[in-house]
Amino acid sequence: MLHEKLQPVFDDVLHRNPGESEFHQATYEVLESLGPVVAKRPDYVDAQILSRIVEPERQIIFRVPWVDDSSRVQINRGFRVQFNSALGPFKGGVRFHPSVYLGIVKFLGFEQIFKNSLTGLPIGGGKGGSDFDPKGRSDGEIMRFCQSFMTELSRHIGQYTDVPAGDVGVGGRELGYMFGQWKRLTNNYESGVLTGKGLTWGGSQVRKEATGYGTVYFLDEVLKARGESFEGKKVVVSGSGNVAIYAIEKVNQLGGTVIAASDSAGYVVDEDGIDLELLKDIKEVRRSRISEYVDRRAGASYASNGTTIWSVPCDIAVPCATQNELGEDDAVTLIRNGCTLIGEGANMPVTQAALRVLAESEITFAPGKAVNAGGVATSALEMQQNASRDSWTFEHTDARLNEIMRGIHSRCAETAEEYGRPGDYVTGANIAGFNRVADAMLALGVI
Ligand code: NDP
Repeated sequence: MLHEKLQPVFDDVLHRNPGESEFHQATYEVLESLGPVVAKRPDYVDAQILSRIVEPERQIIFRVPWVDDSSRVQINRGFRVQFNSALGPFKGGVRFHPSVYLGIVKFLGFEQIFKNSLTGLPIGGGKGGSDFDPKGRSDGEIMRFCQSFMTELSRHIGQYTDVPAGDVGVGGRELGYMFGQWKRLTNNYESGVLTGKGLTWGGSQVRKEATGYGTVYFLDEVLKARGESFEGKKVVVSGSGNVAIYAIEKVNQLGGTVIAASDSAGYVVDEDGIDLELLKDIKEVRRSRISEYVDRRAGASYASNGTTIWSVPCDIAVPCATQNELGEDDAVTLIRNGCTLIGEGANMPVTQAALRVLAESEITFAPGKAVNAGGVATSALEMQQNASRDSWTFEHTDARLNEIMRGIHSRCAETAEEYGRPGDYVTGANIAGFNRVADAMLALGVI
């Protein structure tokens, strides 16, 4: 149930953005938390902050033509949604995946506003992407696609305007091709225009590891608040991409054991602990399927249908793959198996129905906009290094990331407490993230 002042805002979202179910879901989840804010701050309502914040400042949709290895012309669609720049230049990743359409980009961009606000750093929210499927494409095809995508995107970005980064399907290789094209088009070595760059061309230490490491730093704070630690805990991490791999690495460093991981085709269980070097070789080097893991590791098993990774009993579940990957039945199974903590490494991986089940349980739930903010926070640190033409050590950058994640945790915990919902990280994250943006929007007038 939404507050009476918020229901019309949501009705407008439904009316103005037909068919964009992920965007509806993301706005509902934020608005649901904001009832107490609206009651306390009539000035936000008078200035129509809510109606303004759900409407992107700018939405760009463009054609991306390119030529494949058989000399055939291919056409994809590109997107950039510049959602909110009250706190700083638009900032958020670019996703290449066949499921990408405007509703996905808007949900991600909307979440990004509050996530970026929670970091305490001067960055607004945006997101982009394309329905291009990189799977099975040659290096040459990836390069030509990225160059064509950047040819249009370059008109809309800049270090003080909008700063894209990677996301699903966009890693160091793709960002390299995009930065190369940007540099060629503009005759400008403006490093701060993209983040997630390679270390030899303006990138930051720890950016590759940041989302996964940050996820685990946040969850470690949750455990500490309960007088616990990762030591001896069984952890299930879904996905085996950038976020999942570095979440696994940090769990291992903190004494936990990750016993299962997945990709879009199935999942592996390894009770001795996932062999991370093997997983990195399969996913980062060979760009292959996770099913290969069981061929190279005795005692591990693979499942591809019938059950989900959430049927594996664990103390802590960390969904790091994709939106809506953990449903109502999975939530019931996790509760039954004694799981006590779920932290979203991915963006919105837990469905609304699952959230309702979890809310009635003893499980602590930590939302993605707080948990996975370490990636964008380290991107902002990359922008700082680019602006000062400096580069920091791994240890220094990692210490800054850790400090930022601890700050986000205390901001969420204190805000939840202030609004009478101690231990409710969803309320804490949504309200703390929202208030900072709303105050900036008020100060900037009606723009
Ligand atoms: P990657 O593309 O590197 O990895 C995604 C992983 O998830 C792959 O292993 C993929 O498998 C798997 N996957 C996709 N769909 C499913 C599914 N339905 N079931 C199980 N596994 C699936 O992406 P990232 O790791 O970068 O991103 C993961 C999530 O984290 C996304 O929600 C992203 O928005 C979010 N995020 C990422 C940040 C970053 O810095 N990278 C920052 C903040 C959030 P396959 O190989 O088969 O496709």
